[in-house]
Amino acid sequence: MDSKVCLTCKEELPVDSFYTRKYSKDSDSVPFGECKTCANVRATKNRKSRRAKKPKEFYEKERNYGKKHYAANRDVYRNQNLKSLYGITLEDWYRMYEEQDGKCDICQKDFPKERQRCNSKSLAVDHCHDTGRVRSLLCVNCNMAIGGLRHDESLVKKALAYLVKHK
Ligand SMILES: [Zn+2]
Ligand SMILES: [Zn+2]
Repeated sequence: MDSKVCLTCKEELPVDSFYTRKYSKDSDSVPFGECKTCANVRATKNRKSRRAKKPKEFYEKERNYGKKHYAANRDVYRNQNLKSLYGITLEDWYRMYEEQDGKCDICQKDFPKERQRCNSKSLAVDHCHDTGRVRSLLCVNCNMAIGGLRHDESLVKKALAYLVKHK
């Protein structure tokens, strides 16, 4: 394997110890002058000195970056999550939401405007644990209630009979 001398630590290292960068779309990747270790040390130092000089601005910037990054990618994350957990897409979720008129499929509870997005505070995807088939969107309480009764029809009937008996 080709090797290269790091400009900072002067060590001769294999080329995969260097980060590479493409200067334009079609150009070849060019390795950095510094090895990965030195580049990481420098990046950490830069962050620390930015933080020491202007802590307020530093944290503000970090926070904003995090927020922006999350906001820009929220749907991407959500989509991945839905796919891996339930095998549905974000589009499917919104279609179901429309079909249910934004209401829990059991208690019919409406969701306030700010929760009409697909997120952890909104309606949850209920699915059959045996077949993996998605049933409907439910509010957190109803979802937990049938989960607590192990999604077992006979247990739900017994719970109903119990409530009636003690009325
Ligand atoms: Zn180095
Ligand atoms: Zn409900």
